[in-house]
Amino acid sequence: MLTVENLKNIKGKVVVVRVDFNVPQADGKIRDDNRVRAALPTIKKLVSEGARVVLFSHLGKVKHKEEPGVVAKQKAKNNLAIVAPRLGELLGQEVKFLPETRGEAYVKAVKALKDGEVLLVQNTRYEKGEEKNDPELAKEWASVADAYVMDAFGSAHRAHASTYGIPEILKKEGKPVACGYLVEKEIANLMRCVDVKKEDRPYVAILGGLKVSDKIKVIDSLLKKCDKILIGGAMAYTFKKAMGFETGLSPVEDDQLDYARNCLKEAKGKIVLPVDSVVTDAFEGWTKKEVVGDNVPAGFQGMDIGPKTEVLFANEIAKAKMVFWNGPMGVFEQKDFQSGTIAICKAVAGLKGAFSVCGGGDSAAAIKEFGYKESFSHVSTGGGASLEMIENDGHLPGVDILK
Ligand code: ADP
Ligand code: MG
Repeated sequence: MLTVENLKNIKGKVVVVRVDFNVPQADGKIRDDNRVRAALPTIKKLVSEGARVVLFSHLGKVKHKEEPGVVAKQKAKNNLAIVAPRLGELLGQEVKFLPETRGEAYVKAVKALKDGEVLLVQNTRYEKGEEKNDPELAKEWASVADAYVMDAFGSAHRAHASTYGIPEILKKEGKPVACGYLVEKEIANLMRCVDVKKEDRPYVAILGGLKVSDKIKVIDSLLKKCDKILIGGAMAYTFKKAMGFETGLSPVEDDQLDYARNCLKEAKGKIVLPVDSVVTDAFEGWTKKEVVGDNVPAGFQGMDIGPKTEVLFANEIAKAKMVFWNGPMGVFEQKDFQSGTIAICKAVAGLKGAFSVCGGGDSAAAIKEFGYKESFSHVSTGGGASLEMIENDGHLPGVDILK
């Protein structure tokens, strides 16, 4: 696979770059510009070579099946124009913004670029054909490009027009397609969790968060790769119920009970579940909070792993040479249920010479909030993409098409 580092002779050439500028917003402002910063090395490299840089990204969701009024509102909320000035500041040069996504305006704006200039195109999801990988749309986008660089790791698990259609066309035309620095780094780090070396064992995976159904495939893959899987968060209660324990009002996916039972059988002791929980009488506005053992009593729900489980999990992590973590251990958005997630952070921070990766939007936000980002070898910028990479044995459509 070609990387942006070894793209040659791009002076004066139009290089289309798919970046991930899907930034969190609040009151029409960028709340966290991490994703914009993460794309800088690739953009700077192309600018320094004198390329004419055309940036594509999605922002939020635009559901084209909704009523026109709703779609218009979603578009207004997810207008990528807010990113252009911020990117300009960070790059130290003007970033042009194109409010359109295709047509004559697009071709004209690209043709008007001079060497080393940067153009940001409006949110790719303004186009209905983006998520369907519409060939006409991809063709139009590719028509002005001399090369393509993929640097949106967070979108690499999706075969959309901007992540898959464009490079597919350019490849057929014999034009270079490459990955950017961010994607290169993500792949290098995550591949270590996919192709497990002997010296990286014991390999301990920690899974948490909300939905078992979302993470089913990854449990299957992890069972094949890991030595231990620690399961916390809301997910754990589906497993506890499958084992015959009481789960009270805890979130349980009843249609996944058979799957959970089967998992536990296949796991042959690899899966470690909580032995206690912090429970409350309601999710919000609760009045009673206590620590219980294996069973969650009627009228209560599990909100975090309990203190004994914190020790149990920390002891497993302490033995690890490699850790992969996805999903918080509790409802960390509420102060009273942060302890389990912080315990995992501390256990990882205490490791010496081990390799540790955290993937997942909420988990990454949690470790950042609690001040443990530096304790991890790698914090992935892609939630779904990092999970899918493990699920699919290292394969992602947006990366495979570059090969
Ligand atoms: P990630 O984004 O890291 O992949 P998920 O999106 O799967 O993680 O899950 C994160 C959410 O899971 C958080 O909003 C957290 O509040 C929730 N969660 C964790 N434990 C529980 C629980 N016991 N009950 C309800 N929600 C929980
Ligand atoms: Mg999430």
